[in-house]
Amino acid sequence: MNEFELIQRYFWRQTVVRQDVAIAIGDDAAVIDIPAGYQLVVSTDVLVEGVHFPSDAAAQAIGHKALAVNLSDMAAMGAEPAWFTLNLSLPDVDENWLEAFCRGMFDLAGEYNVQLIGGDTVKGPRTIGIQINGLVPTGQALTRSGAASGDYIYVTGTLGDAALALAHHQGKLTLTEDEQQKVSSRLHTPEPRVRIGQGLRGIANSAIDISDGLAADLGHILEMSKVGARLNMPDIPLSSVYRTHFEVAGGYATAVGFGDDYELCITVPGDKTDKLESIGLELGCRFYLIGEIESEAGIRWITADGERWEPPSHGYSHFR
Ligand code: ADP
Ligand code: MG
Repeated sequence: MNEFELIQRYFWRQTVVRQDVAIAIGDDAAVIDIPAGYQLVVSTDVLVEGVHFPSDAAAQAIGHKALAVNLSDMAAMGAEPAWFTLNLSLPDVDENWLEAFCRGMFDLAGEYNVQLIGGDTVKGPRTIGIQINGLVPTGQALTRSGAASGDYIYVTGTLGDAALALAHHQGKLTLTEDEQQKVSSRLHTPEPRVRIGQGLRGIANSAIDISDGLAADLGHILEMSKVGARLNMPDIPLSSVYRTHFEVAGGYATAVGFGDDYELCITVPGDKTDKLESIGLELGCRFYLIGEIESEAGIRWITADGERWEPPSHGYSHFR
């Protein structure tokens, strides 16, 4: 199978066909209609074998996760994802792998009505680069720079479960079958908080998705908003599985330092908390209050005993 046959076979048939795609895959470039009153929101994320997923990872999960991490960036901006491109580098044409990869990717694309509109396919080390494009009503994007002193800080779900699943996968600790079931999807097939992100427009002052750990990602909000935070550590949501293995998993250091959670961290002013509660009910999402924004720079982590604590590392950073 040559490159062109591969592209035709796997990427031309679309599960999602959007009305606003004037020219889709097959021409030199895609052409899309942008509605008046909206801004285009663009983001990209690359997954490299051996860095972001192990060589033996299931292809279906890789397809899901490659798109999920991009959708998560749309969620953090409060955008409605709409179109994506796929840059694929593959060492060989492994049809079983491609079949499963496409299933994982297109199933998730169908869930959020996002259409694959183009890409490039080359031979090389297995690498998946996706660029995602979405829409937001003009001026309503959520940003990292809008947090204000007095805002309440929330996260949308438990932290540390992906780290726990990876530690099990690497043989660093042992989970029961039942525990694995509960946390492995957090690592392999994360659910991006897309609808929640859109629901937070006009409510949250700032937002970020937690890909590198709460410490690092909240840190980005604080830096860009020129504020600080006080966090009440017992309020940081941990799953029952995580709490069972708390010590061996690395405690709060791992839960707030490892990342790959793809929950949102948001800040909300006091006069919007009732609105937050109603969209939580509407979307079936729980917002966990973990602290407050303060004017003094830095994060003050407060333990159950009222003591100060510092995380040992500041999340995952390439080239460090
Ligand atoms: P060109 O040489 O002009 O870049 P290609 O042969 O690379 O053209 O691509 C032909 C068409 O197939 C283009 O519309 C391109 O966007 C699409 N395409 C190529 N690779 C992929 C891919 N991995 N996923 C989606 N579309 C792809
Ligand atoms: Mg090309």
